[in-house]
Amino acid sequence: MKFLEEFQDARLARGLARRIAQHSTKPVRLMEFCGGHTHAILRYGIRQLVPKTVEMRSGPGCPVCVTATADLDKAIALAQLPDMVITTFGDMVRVPGSYSSLQRIKADGADVRIVYSTMDALEIAKANPTKKVVFIGIGFETTAPTIAASILKACLEKIENFYVLSLNKLTPPVMKALLDSGEVKLDGIVCPGHVSVIIGSHPYEFIPRDYGVACVISGFEPLDILLCIDKLVEQIEKREPRVEIAYPRGVKPEGNKRAKQLMEEVFEIGAANWRGIGIVPGSGLIIRKQYEQFDADKAFPVKLEPAKEPKGCRCGDIIRGAATPLECQLFRKVCTPDSPVGPCMVSSEGACAAYYLYGAPEDLPGP
Ligand code: SF4
Repeated sequence: MKFLEEFQDARLARGLARRIAQHSTKPVRLMEFCGGHTHAILRYGIRQLVPKTVEMRSGPGCPVCVTATADLDKAIALAQLPDMVITTFGDMVRVPGSYSSLQRIKADGADVRIVYSTMDALEIAKANPTKKVVFIGIGFETTAPTIAASILKACLEKIENFYVLSLNKLTPPVMKALLDSGEVKLDGIVCPGHVSVIIGSHPYEFIPRDYGVACVISGFEPLDILLCIDKLVEQIEKREPRVEIAYPRGVKPEGNKRAKQLMEEVFEIGAANWRGIGIVPGSGLIIRKQYEQFDADKAFPVKLEPAKEPKGCRCGDIIRGAATPLECQLFRKVCTPDSPVGPCMVSSEGACAAYYLYGAPEDLPGP
């Protein structure tokens, strides 16, 4: 199958769903790590296609959602320093921090600009040599290589007014943290496609080996996801958990060597603060000493008030897979995409936004 439409073929999708139903004999709980998968699953009605034995939970794979309120507060504090330009991806601007948001302080006069890539931020720095330009680096292994490349470019071109606030996070360590907590019992994981393009399949091998949990890497089209679920159910039914790639057109077992080299050149591994999970050792990317002149954390220490979570918001529980958006009392009543209370409703990869946009599966008729 060469063309994207072929991965959306309704007849093939129904056939795969029937196949899953035929060999799914016992209840299984799967977690889709990635917010992109959550949106695709709800958008294409995949939860209604699969049998009731297959329960799906959203996980911590939305970069905006997992950014800790304390880290967002830091970005907001940086934006209020003199001669500062804050550059960030669009969704971050609308996420409420403890006391304000980037959008609110922009309205009050702070220079906050939405960019589509780190390289755009670098161009802004070049064009504004009297300003200090900070890029808010969120995301997983998918975005980290381009952020690393921008730091290397700034170094090469001697751009002295470009900085990165590195809030980048790593996927396998937080999967381990969730499994270690035991809060949500999982039988299988729909592993993220884009992240796996970079890291490959090997970093997940500890999951079936140490936890007995099945792992299948999936693409983002309906047939990709159904094929992934089919393989997960098969592994679980046969009690043969392992790591499989159901997205071979994007993912190689060894990943992307060049992208990994870029990350390793610029970043070292350290702890990261995750919304709803807390500090996870080894799950963050810290700018190496060699490039610390570009590290906004080191260049601009700011004093912060203690972070406060939005009252009544259950984003933390949703990120851990311990609750669904329907279990939040604010969902749809107070919290909507026009008036979001927490990041899971703001972000284009957030679970609450997906439930709001496409209808919660519990609202819709099953197969
Ligand atoms: Fe937070 Fe809104 Fe989601 Fe509730 S519905 S968890 S308030 S983002």
